[in-house]
Amino acid sequence: MPVYEYECLKCGKNFEELQSITDKPLKICRFCGGDTRRLISQTSFSLKGSGWYKDGYSTPKPVAESKSPPPEKKPAPPDSAKKVSSKDS
Ligand SMILES: [Zn+2]
Repeated sequence: MPVYEYECLKCGKNFEELQSITDKPLKICRFCGGDTRRLISQTSFSLKGSGWYKDGYSTPKPVAESKSPPPEKKPAPPDSAKKVSSKDS
């Protein structure tokens, strides 16, 4: 089953949901109940990442500690850096 990544529009948390392809996208933040949007899931991208959600996120465990800030928020879309104006060379 694919893992979908969501970002809460209200509290800004990112979280993942293990869902079937036929499942409807999650609309409710599991932390605050706010609206969410689904991010593009990139498996290869996540594997070379910091590895904090390589495993351990497949089981839904409650995030009790709200002290630690979210890992890193990247507002820019992941793959749009290609079409910058051609001023190299
Ligand atoms: Zn939220």
